[in-house]
Amino acid sequence: MKYRKSKWTMDLVYPNKSYGGVYSLGLLIIANIVNSREDWFCKRVFSDSEKVSSKLVGFSLQYELDLKKAISMKGEGLNFAGGPLVSMNPEMIGEHFDFLLIGDVEEVIVKVLKEYEKGEDQFLKRISKIKGVYVPGKNKVSSAFVKDLDKVPYPIVQEYPEKIDKDFVFGKCLILEIERGCPFECKFCPLNEFYQGYRYRSFENIKKIIDEGLEKNNVEKVVIYSPSFAHPKRKEILKYLLEKKVRVTVPSLRAELIDKECLELIKKCGQESVTIAPESAERLRFSLNKKVKDEAYFNFIKMANEVGFKKLKVYMMIGLPNTSEKDLEEFIEFVDKVKAKFKGQTYLSINYLVPKPKTKFSEHVFDKKILKQEAKYLKKELKKIKVKLSSLSTAYKEWEIIHGHLN
Ligand code: SF4
Repeated sequence: MKYRKSKWTMDLVYPNKSYGGVYSLGLLIIANIVNSREDWFCKRVFSDSEKVSSKLVGFSLQYELDLKKAISMKGEGLNFAGGPLVSMNPEMIGEHFDFLLIGDVEEVIVKVLKEYEKGEDQFLKRISKIKGVYVPGKNKVSSAFVKDLDKVPYPIVQEYPEKIDKDFVFGKCLILEIERGCPFECKFCPLNEFYQGYRYRSFENIKKIIDEGLEKNNVEKVVIYSPSFAHPKRKEILKYLLEKKVRVTVPSLRAELIDKECLELIKKCGQESVTIAPESAERLRFSLNKKVKDEAYFNFIKMANEVGFKKLKVYMMIGLPNTSEKDLEEFIEFVDKVKAKFKGQTYLSINYLVPKPKTKFSEHVFDKKILKQEAKYLKKELKKIKVKLSSLSTAYKEWEIIHGHLN
């Protein structure tokens, strides 16, 4: 948004590079709400763009490793933060900011702005009375929640730098959030703590966002934001996008929810690959409360073959509580079967479980030694497939930071 003279200004910081930050929906949502108020101007700031200059600066905290950078980018006035990381450990993150916004920002941001407009005197004390605003030392942690997503404003205009390069993975796209939270409750996943439950936008509202979004932005594709693509009208949404003749990117899919027609629609919308996240073999997967049978994945692969997908991305996890030698053997067996069944190219990513606070695994200890052994064993045994293994030291650092050890 072009600078406009205003009485109050706010900078919204994504404490990492712009090629990731432009896709932060949280930032777009707040900027849209702030800029729609008279007398306010809000701009987005990334670690590789200009510096912060406003007296009120907000940070979107998505990843553990961004926290240090965020702290180094703080402004000289009031600094606040929100985002998934904040919900996981507000007490720790609150030590570094004047206040935090927890939960759905649409519920609280206007109330905060109204208090700011009254003057800085006693501002923190006044906003400490708002549900979803945590002011360290002044109130207890609480969380805000939007029941009906159709009733809150959506950032229709989504801007990009004029020149973008290949690091901007989605190119210039329209971000389309169809749902928030997830109807499933995998034990390791912090998402439902952040979103406080599953809600989805109505199909009518989604169609309106698509119509206006495509009209107002010069974009090449629509990227669907949705943790598990569980929306009851997911096929209708794809059909509608297909009519609009835009390319579409869908997120990782729950194998048991997707039928052949849905896969055909995804393919027709121009997506070349499909992603699934079985995490582990069946026994361990069920112990994570991810109750999807191996058979469901094999059936999914059969359909993906029939539809003609050429790439399959498979996300697996190691370091899960109660992993036995047998589980690791079954892991290999499962991956080998997936690879054998899929006719195109299979890409396997293995990530370490980082036990997050407020999940069922919050107390689980990240044991580097055990993880190293598991990774070594799997790498040795998984000969038939190229494996992308995440960094053990990075995962360990994430675990340390989110549990309060920043240095
Ligand atoms: S299905 Fe995905 S988003 Fe939903 S709880 Fe499980 S891991 Fe989290």
